[in-house]
Amino acid sequence: MKVLVIGGGAREHALCRSLSQDPAVTELHCAPGNAGIAQVATVHPVDQLDGAQVAALARRLGSDLVVVGPEAPLVAGVSDAVRAAGIPVFGPSGEAALLEGSKAFAKDVMAGAGVPTARSYVCTTAEEAAEALDAFGPPYVVKDDGLAAGKGVVVTSDREAALAHATACDRVVIEEYLDGPEVSLFAITDGTTVLPLQPAQDFKRALDGDEGPNTGGMGAYSPLPWAPEGLVEEVLETVLQPTVDELHRRGTPFSGLLYAGLALTSRGTRVIEFNARFGDPETQVVLARLRTPLAGVLHASATGTLDQLEPLRWDEGAAVTVVIASEGYPAAPRTGDPIEGLAEAEAADGTAYVLHAGTKLDEDGRVLSAGGRVLSVTATGTGLAEARDRAYRALDRISLKGGQHRTDIALKAAG
Ligand code: AMP
Repeated sequence: MKVLVIGGGAREHALCRSLSQDPAVTELHCAPGNAGIAQVATVHPVDQLDGAQVAALARRLGSDLVVVGPEAPLVAGVSDAVRAAGIPVFGPSGEAALLEGSKAFAKDVMAGAGVPTARSYVCTTAEEAAEALDAFGPPYVVKDDGLAAGKGVVVTSDREAALAHATACDRVVIEEYLDGPEVSLFAITDGTTVLPLQPAQDFKRALDGDEGPNTGGMGAYSPLPWAPEGLVEEVLETVLQPTVDELHRRGTPFSGLLYAGLALTSRGTRVIEFNARFGDPETQVVLARLRTPLAGVLHASATGTLDQLEPLRWDEGAAVTVVIASEGYPAAPRTGDPIEGLAEAEAADGTAYVLHAGTKLDEDGRVLSAGGRVLSVTATGTGLAEARDRAYRALDRISLKGGQHRTDIALKAAG
């Protein structure tokens, strides 16, 4: 199978790493990729948001499967263009990707499907926003309706700050605050059959102890030893399958990866958000534990044959990933700094490895930082404590001027 992956972050590096280890994959390409991905796949320049360009590249490469990583190309309809060219694609249509691209649309689908989520109002004026804020009271939750790379959500007890965010956006969803721990649960679907993966937890805040601004994600781990038994089955029954069925019923079937961001509240499990693609950094730990070769699973989603797939096989152990971000992330990341120690960080037995996010090669072949999140240092172990220990030991060997990371990823869960 010749596979083309679209994207260039650590999620795509994790996807490419798994695909490169799948004996069914004979050729692996990635566009645009990054310096790390270039070690396992042939990289090509592409405008990720241009469906015609992506489809033309896939045709030229003779791709049997295109995997679209990030949300922006999905919402821009890149999957539609590839599908129209007759090439199987892992990733929802532009219309179905609105499940992530519009918080208001997602709320409407959840209402139709009877999926438990926070009560909410869609507001377009300051007056409406003020009324909604007072209806719920603090802490306030204000979400930009559109795509905002995980940074469009403000959670605050400061009414003025909440109102300021609401008025800065065209359209916002204001909703009730959900307490309780968060879980990310991914499912692969072909629009009918839904195959949940293993749950993970990510760390959205920039600083230790969940302080500081929201980010794209600073680390993740899997499994969740504290999660209630039967959680995956419950979420499949009450969230994932009803959502997929509802989108099917509406004539916008969703195939690809359905990501449910959940809060386990005192009143039960609630959906915080849906995403239409693999989450970053949770993908790094979920794929680290998946034993079933990846290409066949993604191809079955793309071709509507998930019901014929054998049950997924998982590593019984644990995985932890820690993100190294550049100085100034998330507000104003500085880029262009050399990264040292990458080879030294890799464990010879494969239990610790470095996935690249924002990196590029300079003319001399040195790896430079090229984005806010730069690396995702990933490790596996028999339990979370061992995986965590290996991840941080690998991380200590890497140097990036001004680089920042959290020191408490998976700390509480590792016990
Ligand atoms: P989202 O982009 O919707 O995942 O929101 C980013 C983060 O904001 C989530 O991971 C939560 O930590 C927080 N958040 C979003 N919605 C709520 C809510 N209704 N109650 C509490 N926290 C929330």
